[in-house]
Amino acid sequence: MTCEQCNAAKLRLKKQRESQNYFVACSGYPNCKFTSDMPKGVEAAQMTDQNCPRCRSQRRDVKLFDLTFHPDYVSEAMRRHLPNGKSARFCINKDCDPDFKQLLELTRSLGQKKTYN
Ligand SMILES: [Zn+2]
Ligand SMILES: [Zn+2]
Repeated sequence: MTCEQCNAAKLRLKKQRESQNYFVACSGYPNCKFTSDMPKGVEAAQMTDQNCPRCRSQRRDVKLFDLTFHPDYVSEAMRRHLPNGKSARFCINKDCDPDFKQLLELTRSLGQKKTYN
């Protein structure tokens, strides 16, 4: 998946050390500082090798991601965007996937992940 900002380097899935939140960053860093947040509360994220068909029809190369939310974070409102109540496959282009956009907004107010002992 090519970075939409520099149009050269690839995007990679990363995890913030402190908050444990996933995000996507350009491998061209520090020349390109593009990042894209994932919703908070995601306990597992994976980039699939499947391209988003809607983005592809607009000549954009965007991969679909499998995101799984930690059950403690899944609210009633979030469940509407998660067919099985915890995970789904999303296009991370907010302009393309309304479910992904909604989940970003719904989880914005969540704090740092709790630790489970
Ligand atoms: Zn870039
Ligand atoms: Zn898309």
